[in-house]
Amino acid sequence: MFRRKKKVTPARAATQVGASNAANVERVIVLHRGAAPHPDQLRQLVEYVLGVPTYNLHVTASRVDEPTVDVAYALIARFQSEGTIGADALDRASFQSLKTSLGPIVVVVVRGSGPPERHAYAPSPSPALPDEPIRHDGYVCPLCGFSQVLTQRQTARAQWQLDEERSVAHDFAVTLMFCAACETLINDDVNGDRAVVYQRLTTQAGAPAPRTSEMVHEVMHHVTRVRALSEPERQHDYDDVRQTWHCLDLRYIPEGELEDAVTRIIDGYFAEGANEFQVQTLENHVVQLSFSTSMGFRPVRLSRTSDGGFTAYGQVALYRFLGQGRPEASAPQAGVGGGVSTEDVLDAAVRELVTLGLAEGFLSPDGPGARTAEIGRQLDSAGGIDLMKAAHAVVASRVRHVPGMARELDVAWDGIGGWLG
Ligand SMILES: [Zn+2]
Repeated sequence: MFRRKKKVTPARAATQVGASNAANVERVIVLHRGAAPHPDQLRQLVEYVLGVPTYNLHVTASRVDEPTVDVAYALIARFQSEGTIGADALDRASFQSLKTSLGPIVVVVVRGSGPPERHAYAPSPSPALPDEPIRHDGYVCPLCGFSQVLTQRQTARAQWQLDEERSVAHDFAVTLMFCAACETLINDDVNGDRAVVYQRLTTQAGAPAPRTSEMVHEVMHHVTRVRALSEPERQHDYDDVRQTWHCLDLRYIPEGELEDAVTRIIDGYFAEGANEFQVQTLENHVVQLSFSTSMGFRPVRLSRTSDGGFTAYGQVALYRFLGQGRPEASAPQAGVGGGVSTEDVLDAAVRELVTLGLAEGFLSPDGPGARTAEIGRQLDSAGGIDLMKAAHAVVASRVRHVPGMARELDVAWDGIGGWLG
């Protein structure tokens, strides 16, 4: 995904918001193997990890035989003993391993001033991961439209700040999904592993439950006060951050669904290690939500459309939290309606179900997934059980590489129309 040396457009507003996050960084070391990354690629990698532009950061590349977290840890320990880095650098370092088109990469971020952090880090053998990505059909890349994706497991790290000085961390395997054509990271956690690990970390740490409703209220307060932006204005703001944040698309949210979407965004980030939240209205009438995690800054922007709806964009995780919606370009036009055929309903349902099934499954912990059930009801009202059966058959054939997935849909639709799971 970092193959092309794209020009990175600095995001002015993001610089202000993320300043404290980046200002605290003393040094960044990128471990790689093979040829040295191009400076642009280095910068993109670091911006990806930190979530902010990195003009003044001291970034160095270091070639190693095997870029793993353990090797990175050993390298920092050596620098520390040689005196080429602060004596307590290891205590202030966080590690992130990434699979990129340059091969495996580990990004080490050494935080600067402030009290030293003590990480409960113990080098551990990485879980055995398959090197070869697995190919799947039937999932459409939002960037290039190609309908084949690759999933690949890699190691990731969850880290939770206990207080200003101490944190706990846990390494785990996460499944990523890339477009098989343009290599864009489409889904950064196909199976929801991150939330499970953070749930465990925060429970152990006795972390208080996030005050979601207060945060939602605060966001709604901001969004009701911004004016609608013209399409070029919205596009301009999107273009400002798109490459730095690796946005997938401008996601359209109808006005009536905004509060629900904001709740899902806040719940999503807090379930995955956010410990601080800030909302602000930028000068250009765009509302920015900023989540801080010990792994970096996680921004989301909302802008109002002329029909009273909103568009949302941010880093890849946002699109997971929002679930499969529609990119703005394909949103229905006001005033057009009534001309939708049964085939259209079937097509749209199949596409969304395949995406939904692969991304999060058809069942939630407390029963059928809400959206899965809703699609079932839509199919039922458009064409009864026959249409549901037709959709089920197509979905089953497209997800046949995932054992149990078609059966899951069966169960999720139990009781909808004449369906018996
Ligand atoms: Zn693509």
